[in-house]
Amino acid sequence: MKFLIFIAFLIFIYWYFFIRKKRLTSDKLGELVEELVLDENCRRYIKKEEAIKVEIDGKNYYFCSKKCLSEFLQKISKSQP
Ligand SMILES: [Zn+2]
Repeated sequence: MKFLIFIAFLIFIYWYFFIRKKRLTSDKLGELVEELVLDENCRRYIKKEEAIKVEIDGKNYYFCSKKCLSEFLQKISKSQP
């Protein structure tokens, strides 16, 4: 019976450290998630490092593709004749 308790204790210790490790990695992922930026054209969140960055009137805009960039430029040129 004591042996069974010992085994249960070992499993608990193993589980405890495993969960802790998992939490640490998800915290690191959380930092990466903060590096997402909004595509102003298709309203999708994209990774900042993969986005196309354009500065318009002193404001930074990010786009997932060149297509989104040109569509957005067309939109603002229509709204500001
Ligand atoms: Zn887009």
